Amino acid sequence: MEKPYKLIHIETATPKAPESAVMIIYTGGTLGMVYNEDQALVPFDFQNILDEVPSLKNFNLKITVASFHNLIDSSNVSPKHWDDIAGLVEDYYEEYDGFIVIHGTDTMSYTASAISFMLEGLNKPVIFTGAQLPIGAARSDARENLITAIEIASQKLNHRPIVSEVCIYFDNLLLRGNRSKKVESVQFDAFQSENYPVLAEAGVIIEYNFSALRPFQTEAELKVRKNIQQEVAILKVFPGISQSLVDGILSIEGLRGLVIETYGSGNAPTEKWFIDALNRAIEKDILILNVSQCMGGKVIQGRYQTSMDLQSIGVISGSDITTEAAITKMMYVLSHAHTKEMQQSYLIKPLRGEME
Ligand code: ASP
Repeated sequence: MEKPYKLIHIETATPKAPESAVMIIYTGGTLGMVYNEDQALVPFDFQNILDEVPSLKNFNLKITVASFHNLIDSSNVSPKHWDDIAGLVEDYYEEYDGFIVIHGTDTMSYTASAISFMLEGLNKPVIFTGAQLPIGAARSDARENLITAIEIASQKLNHRPIVSEVCIYFDNLLLRGNRSKKVESVQFDAFQSENYPVLAEAGVIIEYNFSALRPFQTEAELKVRKNIQQEVAILKVFPGISQSLVDGILSIEGLRGLVIETYGSGNAPTEKWFIDALNRAIEKDILILNVSQCMGGKVIQGRYQTSMDLQSIGVISGSDITTEAAITKMMYVLSHAHTKEMQQSYLIKPLRGEME
């Protein structure tokens, strides 16, 4: 079967044996765009990366780009693309010390979260990055983001990678991927991780927050979990939400998991029709996970009277998880935990550091 990508080897012109090997997986997004002769933005051919980022030549690294044939705006990303990214990490895991994924910012937190669940036992850096301005633009943030992401993906301490998890590097910050959220579409500081400390900050040096980084797991073996389920939905509550909207979502044919975005510390309307609708869904074996609409803080079911019914009918608390991590975790859990009890037990605990 034809691979969905082509491989491009980058000459970093070093006479020495490279210190590390990094694979760049190029999926699309703004970072890789340049202006064509008509001044329209078009995806860039990574073959010419050294023209855009000449300082890459100074790295003493083996760099290979896996460039997808079909480069996408990340609004079009789907679980099929997640399988392709995870598959590349699986196929080249032994050959490379670290992986960079160039991805559009719009859904980067969803993809980074999904990939974190799909790569069980990961012991190498998988660093997502992108840019707010295309690499071909004079003031672009693309060069700095790409260069520092490569540096982080190749750095080792005592022969071990410093980072051994899925992260996002953007605008000087290294964040845990499944804790991140896109919060800004105009300024360069596009991502935040409100409920988890920054993993590293790049200034004159890259300062790592060792107590927040996931430790290297000596015994871990990579297992790649593909084909994650899509029979899931997100229901955001709002004042005036109608019964027909809630019933409509809960009666979707084949629905197996619902993430409900509630207010504050997990509170929702207490009207009978609302609780009854959720209760009927739970009785039909639909898993319901409660996450907060707030960026910071966490769900504490039972703290207010307005979340007590949710608790008593069996809605699962998502604690301080983001919506992006919650929906991708639900997809993963429905696919790879085979009993209802296992699925529930996976949802209430952190699997990849995505919740406390
Ligand atoms: N719409 C673009 C995307 O997510 C924005 C970006 O690359 O930052 O692919």
